[in-house]
Amino acid sequence: MACASVVPPGNPAAGNTLAPIRPGVPACAVEYVLFHEMLHLKHPTRRSGCSLVSHSPEFREEEKRFPAYARARKYLDRMA
Ligand SMILES: [Zn+2]
Repeated sequence: MACASVVPPGNPAAGNTLAPIRPGVPACAVEYVLFHEMLHLKHPTRRSGCSLVSHSPEFREEEKRFPAYARARKYLDRMA
């Protein structure tokens, strides 16, 4: 998956509700965040001893299947 497109300028009337958050963000980064959050529905937080595990090894492995994973992570890591 290419990651050349960016979130276009906001137009809430057209149903574009992501753009007002931060115009110019690569579309793959937005899509990756949505993918990540949806994985939380598939892999709910579980208890492991005294701690909670939100990002299990299975979660992390499946997360890497996102087509533009490396590029999206690189972008988001630079923002941190
Ligand atoms: Zn998470």
